[in-house]
Amino acid sequence: MTTEDSLSEEEQLKRYLLRVSYSGMGVNSTLDRQLNELRTAIKDQTSTEDLKIYVDNITDFLREQEELIEDQLQSSDSPALQALLAEVENLPLSRKSKKLLKTLNKKRQQLNPESIFEEIGNILKTTEINESNSRWNPFNKKKREHNEEVLDNDEVLEKPAVSQQVIIPQALKDALNNFVDQLGNIDIYRKASENIKDQLLAINHYEQLSDLIEQIASALLEAANQEHVQFENFLQKLNKRLLNVASYLNQAAVGHESLISDTQKLDTDLTGAIADIQQEIADSPNLGPLKSRLLSSFEHIFNSVNHFKETQKNKVKASLAELKIVREQLAVTEEEAERLKTNLKEQRFKAYNDPLTSLPNRYAYNERLTQEYSRWRRYRNSLSLAVCDIDYFKKINDQYGHQAGDEVLKAVANQLDHGLRESDFIARYGGEEFVILMPETRLADATKAINKLRLMVRDHAIKVTPNQTINITLSFGVAEFEGADTATDVFNKADKALYRAKEKGRNQVCAERSIKPDLP
Ligand code: GH3
Ligand code: MG
Ligand code: MG
Repeated sequence: MTTEDSLSEEEQLKRYLLRVSYSGMGVNSTLDRQLNELRTAIKDQTSTEDLKIYVDNITDFLREQEELIEDQLQSSDSPALQALLAEVENLPLSRKSKKLLKTLNKKRQQLNPESIFEEIGNILKTTEINESNSRWNPFNKKKREHNEEVLDNDEVLEKPAVSQQVIIPQALKDALNNFVDQLGNIDIYRKASENIKDQLLAINHYEQLSDLIEQIASALLEAANQEHVQFENFLQKLNKRLLNVASYLNQAAVGHESLISDTQKLDTDLTGAIADIQQEIADSPNLGPLKSRLLSSFEHIFNSVNHFKETQKNKVKASLAELKIVREQLAVTEEEAERLKTNLKEQRFKAYNDPLTSLPNRYAYNERLTQEYSRWRRYRNSLSLAVCDIDYFKKINDQYGHQAGDEVLKAVANQLDHGLRESDFIARYGGEEFVILMPETRLADATKAINKLRLMVRDHAIKVTPNQTINITLSFGVAEFEGADTATDVFNKADKALYRAKEKGRNQVCAERSIKPDLP
């Protein structure tokens, strides 16, 4: 081994970093800039030790990204959002809605802006249930007639205080505007925020408010989600590159370690050979003056070898120390990337799942419905859809409290989720309403499977207080994708069937067809 060999190790490292820097281009503009700087440094023959500054830069960049995500999370605690919630509470809402808003305000810090908007939307929706036929809640479409039939005294007391004629107070509009403005400062929400502000200008009545809030929640969700997907891709690429660099450094270290043992071997061999020759010369009495010349030249070789050995040892030591530092930096960077990945995973879960039941939320449902619908259009395999609503759920809240109501929701969600096949999909559609997609399932089979679910939930006792359990029932509407149906057509069929199930006394499954079955 010679000095040239160890130099070429360093050259190889630089060449490798150069290749890595090209492979990372185009993922993120800040990273592009850092990689350009790295390439320039390599071309300028920068030392390995100085190159580690570029690893530091990547680490810092990742840290900044993480802080950005944390800031976004913290935005649910911003004064603008607090002011907005206070203004919503000032609306002439029913006593129950006000209570729900207070609860939401308390748990605000654990939620992201999207979920908060979704919950505000839900609360406003509940308040206006009897007064307006909101078009974004298909479940409510028949509520008026339906309620007349099942009204009891409690429900009369709960008649909503807000009607569609109520003008939105300017203070609420200002607070909403202010909050959306603040969100606009966060990159990922900027575009959504501009759209929402335009719409805010155009609305005046309470009826339009819940609709807009629903849209805000969806727009924010979509914006946040797109950013997550992009950033996740970036992290995946970065991680791959870091792994490559790490494996190269390991190889380089092994190379250096073998260099040490090679040098030691050279030393032993050479020293042994020289000692033999010295002995032979010393034992030959006839060499005369040549003898002393040879002895001194061997002395010289011996010293050179010693010197080479010393310098080589020091160089290898220094190289190994450098490599150790770079490896440590790399480990830190990998750790950062790993932490970010976990963080993103949590964010993704929040974006796609309902915080109370952990089931997929309406956004996840819409995404899945789009996929299943286009698959059905292309292959025409069977696809069924069921909607489900808990019977007399209001009474559970009234009798045992909202907390107990939440526990019932969680228990029902869990039962439904476990009672379905792996290939089925269930989401919490809204308050106490769920929607189920059943691919590869004809209407008759879907109805049978849903009926099993109904019985399973009916027979499962749910704990509402430490020493009280209740049994609750569900009503279902089932429909199949047929002929030229749109996804909305099928949802409406299922909703119609659900209404029938409620009308016929609840705790049952009804199915609805748009095409008459073929005659045998
Ligand atoms: P029906 O049999 O006709 O469906 O009667 P219902 O009482 O279940 O019907 P309705 O849709 O009028 O009431 C739903 C209730 O669900 C009203 C609302 O307060 C409650 N709710 C909605 N979301 C939640 C929630 O997240 N937690 C709790 N505890 N209650 C909720
Ligand atoms: Mg309902
Ligand atoms: Mg219900």
